[in-house]
Amino acid sequence: MSTYSHLRINPERFRSDFESLARIGARPESGVHRPAFSDSHLNARAWFRQEIIQAGLELRVDGAGNHSALLPCKRPDAKTLLLGSHLDSVPDGGRFDGALGVLAALETLRVIKENGISLNVHLEAIDFTDEEGAYVGLLGSSALAGTLSEASLKNPRSGRQAFLHGLASAGLEKSGLRQARRDPSELAGYLELHIEQGSRLEKAGAEIGVVISIVGIAAARLVFLGQADHAGTTPMRDRRDASLGAAAFILKAHELVRERYQECVVNTGSLTMSPGAFNIVPAKAVLALEYRAPDLEMLSNLGNSLEKKARLAADRYRLELEIEHIETHLPAPMSEMVQEVITTAAGKLGLRSLPLYSGAGHDAQSLVGLCPTGMIFVPSVGGASHSNREQTFWQNCLHGANVLLHSSLKLAKRLESQ
Ligand SMILES: [Zn+2]
Repeated sequence: MSTYSHLRINPERFRSDFESLARIGARPESGVHRPAFSDSHLNARAWFRQEIIQAGLELRVDGAGNHSALLPCKRPDAKTLLLGSHLDSVPDGGRFDGALGVLAALETLRVIKENGISLNVHLEAIDFTDEEGAYVGLLGSSALAGTLSEASLKNPRSGRQAFLHGLASAGLEKSGLRQARRDPSELAGYLELHIEQGSRLEKAGAEIGVVISIVGIAAARLVFLGQADHAGTTPMRDRRDASLGAAAFILKAHELVRERYQECVVNTGSLTMSPGAFNIVPAKAVLALEYRAPDLEMLSNLGNSLEKKARLAADRYRLELEIEHIETHLPAPMSEMVQEVITTAAGKLGLRSLPLYSGAGHDAQSLVGLCPTGMIFVPSVGGASHSNREQTFWQNCLHGANVLLHSSLKLAKRLESQ
């Protein structure tokens, strides 16, 4: 890094890119609306393709629609260092989520190219398809990793017809998704710059977050079963009221996580009672439960503790309990070597960095099984994200992009010596 320590990304070009992109799918209130395969998303990709060509980089589009800029090195058998994120947004999302990482990756390639720096790895700036899951969450990065599950393709969140239609609108076919798979032996590493989407960096007064791990997420449906009865004539002590089991569990679950699992979170996002009338004691309460933990042991301990609390709540009110496990995403630990590279790069740029967990999912979690993977976070003002209130001070966007540039150089160097 010492030879290149003076290098910085071009702030005017980076800013102008950011503003051009933020105009595509812009909302009057300042956010963007670019769900995967929508017109605005396809326009954003057309814009990205044009930027790649204008920068004199090679364009690559794979079977999952992932778009990349390539800066090949002189050794044809070299591995590829991937830098990326995503250009799609949630409906009415913010301008920074995903976009910042793709633009910083592109800018990193431009700076390395125009300074004539020769590396022994190919560099690739990639925009992954449907990170946010309008159809299938992490579609592009899972396709690249070869971990797309048949179940998620058969039963996409959007429904099957909408998925096939979405693919077709981007010129893709379901059968092509598997062709996006890359052999891990081709990959040198993966780096992603992203906004934090939380407020820990802001609270700590740090400019850079070094992600330790992306949390694991488990979702389950809890069904408390009691008995429907007349709400006027059944004595209170004789009721088997399903709502009580659910209510008692909700309070206990939140208390448990606040007191004993401070690095975890729990959410009880939906509760439906049936038969669902003013004058009938509820026979059934269905609760949507989701919890997240930074490592596997904590995820499984928390799952067991929550299940115990649910059983106690059911017993207390003489209810039956059914638990349906919906899905589990394992925690994705980032490479320690890459964390060290990012921390050093931030330090040399005079920036304060903080190691932290990512409570949100990212494309990086698809890559952890393939190659050394790391994530750089920059502070979100007030922690707001997935909303038009999403904001990151421009100076911090620049800091993040410079950390990406220097981490890439350092990582490339380290990989050469291996
Ligand atoms: Zn994102």
